[in-house]
Amino acid sequence: MDIPQNIFMAKNRVIDNALFLKTEQCVRCASCAPRCPTYALSLNEAESPRGRITMIAGLATGQISATESLQQHLDNCLTCRACEQVCPAEVEVGDILDQGRALTHRRRWPTLAQLLFNKVLDQIIAHPKPLARLTTLARLKWVQRMAHTLGFGAWLPALSAAQPTMPLHAHYPSGSDSDKRVQLFVGCLGEAMQSHTLNAALYLLSHLGFSVQIPKEQTCCGALHKHRGEIGRANRFASQNLQAFSDPAVPVIYCATGCGVTLKEYQADSPDAFPMRLLEINEFIAQCEFDTLEFEPLHEKVLIHDPCSARYPLKCAQFSHQLLNQIEGLEIFTLANNQHCCGAAGTYMLSHPETAHTLVSSIVEEAVRLQVDYVVSSNIGCALHLGVHLPKSIRVCHPVELLAQQLISRHKLGVE
Ligand code: SF4
Ligand code: SF4
Repeated sequence: MDIPQNIFMAKNRVIDNALFLKTEQCVRCASCAPRCPTYALSLNEAESPRGRITMIAGLATGQISATESLQQHLDNCLTCRACEQVCPAEVEVGDILDQGRALTHRRRWPTLAQLLFNKVLDQIIAHPKPLARLTTLARLKWVQRMAHTLGFGAWLPALSAAQPTMPLHAHYPSGSDSDKRVQLFVGCLGEAMQSHTLNAALYLLSHLGFSVQIPKEQTCCGALHKHRGEIGRANRFASQNLQAFSDPAVPVIYCATGCGVTLKEYQADSPDAFPMRLLEINEFIAQCEFDTLEFEPLHEKVLIHDPCSARYPLKCAQFSHQLLNQIEGLEIFTLANNQHCCGAAGTYMLSHPETAHTLVSSIVEEAVRLQVDYVVSSNIGCALHLGVHLPKSIRVCHPVELLAQQLISRHKLGVE
C-alpha cells in the first residue's frame, strides 16, 4: 500500500504515516517487557512497551480512537527508556511515546484536572523565582488542605525538599590566569531549586581554571512539555536556547541529566552546533585536569543513584563513580537493582504519586539497610524524589556537592 509520509486526513481520521512506520520497526518480541517498570508492576500488556507501541500504531493509522484509557496507558509510561536498551530492533520507544502522546493530545480535550496541572506547571516554569515563597507557604496547614483538595497534594513534599533559591550572576571569573571559558545551562528551575548543586559546580570549575558565563536568555530545556505531547512548545524553548548558547567556541555544561537528554536531541546542523558542545558536569570535570584538585578525606558511606537519563541515553553514569573515588575514605555503594526508574521521571512523581512511591521504595530500603550517610544523584528530579522519601538523616545531593564540600580550597568563588 502506498502511504504518503506526512500527516493527512482520511475519512475524518488523522493519519501519521511517519509515526506508523516507526512503530513497524518493532518486531513484537517482548524482550523489553522484563525491563519495563510499569509492566513489572501491573503484568498488563497495555502497560508494556510492546503494548504501547501497538496502540500508537493503531492511533497513527486511525484504526483506534484516542480514548481516555488509551491516553492513561501512554501517560503511565515513565519515558525511562530502559526498554530501548534491550531492544534487538533498536526501536526508538521514547520518541514513539512522545509522538503518540502528542497525537492523543491533538485528538482529546484535556480534563479540568489536566488543564489545571499544566497551567500551574507552566506558571512555575515561566516564573520560577517565587518558588521560594511557595516552599514557605507549603508548610502552612491551610495551604496543605487546599492543595490536597485541588489535587496538588503530591507537590508539597517536592517543594519542601527543594534547595533554597540563590540568585546567580551572569559571569564567574576563573580562579587563575587561564582564559578557559564555559557556559552553564541552568534551565527553568535550576536557580530556584538546585542552587547548592550549581554553586558547587561553579566552585569546582573555578578551581579547574574556567570562567563561567550563565546566559540570562536561556530557558527551560523543553523536556516536560515534550513528554506531555506539547511538541510545539518544546521546539520554541529549543530555539531560544540555541540562540542563548550560540557561541561555537564555548562548551556548554549542564548539571541535570534529565535536561541533558532533551538538550542533546536539539537539531544539530553543524559540527560545532549546541548539542555537540554539550557536556554533563561530572563528565566534563573527569576530562579536565581533575587530579590537580585535592580533597579532604571523608570517612562516611555514600550510595550512588544512577538516573535513567545518565545510564541509558547519555551513557555518562560512570563519571560520578570515577569522581567520588578521588575522595579518600569514602565508602561507595552502587544500587543492587539500579535498572528500574526511581519514579521521579520529570513530573511523573507529581502526576502519578502512588506509582512513583512504589518505585522508589526499594532504593529507600537499600539506603536504610546500608546505613549510608549520603545518596547522590546527578538529576535534580531524582534527587528531589529521593529527598522526599528517604529518612532526613540521609543527605541527598549531587556528586559535585560532595566534591566541593571536600575540596581543599585555594580561593573563594569570585563574581563579576
Ligand atoms: S520508557 Fe520505561 S516505562 Fe515506558 S515503556 Fe519503556 S521501559 Fe516502560
Ligand atoms: S520494542 Fe523492541 S524489544 Fe520491545 S517488543 Fe518491540 S522489538 Fe521487541
